Amino acid sequence: MIEAGGQRSGAVLGLAIAGEATRRTSVLFRRAARKSALAWRPMVTVRFVGSGDSFGSGGRFQTCILVDGPRSRVALDFGTSSLIALAQQGIEPNSIDAILLTHLHGDHCGGVPFLLIDAMLAARRMRPLIIAGPRDLVRRLGEIREALFPGSHVMTPKFPLQWIELVPGTPRALLDLVVTARPARHTAETNPTALRVEIGGKVIAYTGDTEWTDEVAAAAQNADLLIAECYYYAKPIKWHLNYPVIAAHRDACGARRVILTHMSREMLAHADEVPEECAHDGLVVTI
Ligand SMILES: [Zn+2]
Ligand SMILES: [Zn+2]
Repeated sequence: MIEAGGQRSGAVLGLAIAGEATRRTSVLFRRAARKSALAWRPMVTVRFVGSGDSFGSGGRFQTCILVDGPRSRVALDFGTSSLIALAQQGIEPNSIDAILLTHLHGDHCGGVPFLLIDAMLAARRMRPLIIAGPRDLVRRLGEIREALFPGSHVMTPKFPLQWIELVPGTPRALLDLVVTARPARHTAETNPTALRVEIGGKVIAYTGDTEWTDEVAAAAQNADLLIAECYYYAKPIKWHLNYPVIAAHRDACGARRVILTHMSREMLAHADEVPEECAHDGLVVTI
């Protein structure tokens, strides 16, 4: 009995040791899992496919900013030259899930008709596409497409195409991101907005073309990345940002990183003198 009891106590002791080992192992596993969860944050990549202004300053393509989140690829603006810029950088247009447009100037939206017609005729797109943008987007883009490709209104895409008109100030969920448009101060007929995009746990703010306003500041508040148009270095310019204005507001808005884009010849001549990062065509950053 003693022996049997001893065996039993040994077994109990063995179980206790095994239990302790299991507990310690699971604690270690939990710690490792916590550590790797902290280390693993979805990466968000931003590529400046086109970083230019309207007029080809510096030989740059018009605005097209490609954002890769954990599960989707979206373009912020899609200027007229964007298909060429994508081709030059080896990026397949059919890989884009959504295009978010800030306003209806050609250097920000003029590439959409080219993309749609290419998708229907040559690229044989099957993947769904979302095009989101400011008020009156559908009618105005239809007019732009018809002006550039008369007769194209009879074409019907074979892929699912969804148009979304963003309501300023109202967050809108699409794909795996949330986008909030804010009213911007730019040519009124373009229905201008700035965008705040939440994707993969990160916030990207993009001014579009605008003067600095409280609404633009709200879009940029505590963003991980603020992409700011910086049209001029010193010259005051109506309906756009220049460098002194951005420098005066960047700290107050709390954006952790600022990249300047949409630069005129005058600004490009001073790009090396400013502490902020300046975009160039093909620049890729991870946030
Ligand atoms: Zn512009
Ligand atoms: Zn504009």
